[in-house]
Amino acid sequence: MRWIIVGVIILFLILLSVYRITRKRQVPVHNNKVIHLSAHSKKREQARKQQKCSFCRKENKKLAFYSDENGKIVGVCPVCKPLAERRALMRL
Ligand SMILES: [Zn+2]
Repeated sequence: MRWIIVGVIILFLILLSVYRITRKRQVPVHNNKVIHLSAHSKKREQARKQQKCSFCRKENKKLAFYSDENGKIVGVCPVCKPLAERRALMRL
């Protein structure tokens, strides 16, 4: 009977150490995810710099932002800017 209890305790300790090892392994994975996310947000920032014009759909770095009749924000390139101003959109 005593051997069974000792065996259960040893088994428990083994399971505990395995659990700790797997937890330690999960931490770098989590860090990798964080790095991946920050890299992803950098990509998103780059995408924000290269936004498309809401009228001609051409990518332009210098977009002027207006709020349209529905309160929707539209990015307008310098070419389409007179078009937006003709529609009397509110400049943001
Ligand atoms: Zn445009």
